[in-house]
Amino acid sequence: MKTISHDSEYILSIIKTAYHKFESVAEGQNASYIPYLKEIDPKLFGISVCLTDGTLIEYGDTSFQFGIESISKVPTALLALKQNGTESILQKIGTNATGMDFGSLFAILLEKGYPSTPLVNAGAIAACSLIEPLGDAAGKWQMIQQNIDDLCGSKTEVLHALYQNETETNYHNRSITWLLKSYDRIYDDPEVALDIYTRQCSIGVTTSQLAVMAATIANKGKNPKTGLQVFDAALASKLVSMIATVGLYEETGDWMFESGIPAKSGVGGGILAVYPGEVGICVFSPPLNRFGNSVKGKKVVQYIANALGLSIYE
Ligand code: GLU
Repeated sequence: MKTISHDSEYILSIIKTAYHKFESVAEGQNASYIPYLKEIDPKLFGISVCLTDGTLIEYGDTSFQFGIESISKVPTALLALKQNGTESILQKIGTNATGMDFGSLFAILLEKGYPSTPLVNAGAIAACSLIEPLGDAAGKWQMIQQNIDDLCGSKTEVLHALYQNETETNYHNRSITWLLKSYDRIYDDPEVALDIYTRQCSIGVTTSQLAVMAATIANKGKNPKTGLQVFDAALASKLVSMIATVGLYEETGDWMFESGIPAKSGVGGGILAVYPGEVGICVFSPPLNRFGNSVKGKKVVQYIANALGLSIYE
């Protein structure tokens, strides 16, 4: 792996160049299947980079709280790994790409209930069902949010309007949950697992917070801002491999080919990228492409990764 320059001015100049280069890109649309997300100003645009020494370099709307959405699958996968061990997660959920969209029922049917990865909805809901304490919704939620806060190095909060909105419209995820239950792939009360999943997707985060989360993963579990060892260093490479496999859903292969940096997106418009040992990046821009990935987010992360030479394959 490459050691990157820690010259903040130099990195800021790359960030600013990316910002202005892609600022006027008009492709993509906000997620519309969750009404709250449809209403977010599509012009919001923020870029944060956090080095593993804790230096945060940022530009644009970096303190706007947006819905973490699927990026929450990363911390909860980590928590499930922490609590259950890698063997159990491999056997109960898996670490493969489905090759289908993030909410695919077809993928569950094809795999006979095996969710394939905690980074698609089915595997994420199964992961939520595995989080201890089992049978205690409040305790389970506390574990999940505390883990996210520890990774971010600061407190997050649920965006209640988003949570309510997602709860009122999550029929599709309810189908996924009960289909998994029919295959015995839900390990706690299915309605609690669904609710916890919906709530974690509704957590509001800023690009600054998610860049610190990414840098904590890059830093093998030690939060560079707080100094807290949030998870066992050995889990970092496991988590990064999951992100590299399916972080941008069906276009992950193309993404890794072009950018070389593992990244996870959310339909709230966020994208989090990790270059092990060196840096975490987060970009927020709500308009998405047809796969559910932020159009500008992808362009900016790729630009920064290429400019800093962050391919994990080199
Ligand atoms: N809450 C969203 C869902 O379950 C998250 C999807 C995503 O960000 O990919 O559909």
